[in-house]
Amino acid sequence: MHWKRIILTTLLMTVAALILFGFLHIEQLPPKNSTPVATKDADDINSLHPTVEKNMHKLVDKSADTGIPIIITDDYRSKKEQDKLYAQGRTTEGQIVTNVQGGESMHNYGLAIDFALEPEPGKVIWDMEYDGNKNGESDWLEVVAIAKDLGFHWGGDWTEFKDYPHLEMHIY
Ligand SMILES: [Zn+2]
Repeated sequence: MHWKRIILTTLLMTVAALILFGFLHIEQLPPKNSTPVATKDADDINSLHPTVEKNMHKLVDKSADTGIPIIITDDYRSKKEQDKLYAQGRTTEGQIVTNVQGGESMHNYGLAIDFALEPEPGKVIWDMEYDGNKNGESDWLEVVAIAKDLGFHWGGDWTEFKDYPHLEMHIY
């Protein structure tokens, strides 16, 4: 019967087309787990997350209230800027300041900030022993404690690469 062959051929072609389409579709899926924040597309982010920004201001205010003026030295960083920073101390001059490349840092997702002490306007220090408010405690660690109360995680707690000025929030 001729019509049976036509139906069979049509069916086979449909199945082949579906398989091919499915294959092409799978090919276009982005690689999974390519970044620590898999649910976010870094290309859509170009500023601090509003919650992080709000808590950053709180941190600056609360630290000042404790007699510790601080400065935010870095917040959002593009993947390109991250790659440039990663190159520092490796393929370009300077000392190594990060162990993560573009897309791997919470800065690339607007979820991290870096701070430093600024005891006098324009005088920025990264001294963890400094006790400017003279209460017998390290100003740096006092700021870290305030940050942790606000929900930040501290880079100084990392085991592999300690990043003492770094604070990040885990918001997904
Ligand atoms: Zn940082």
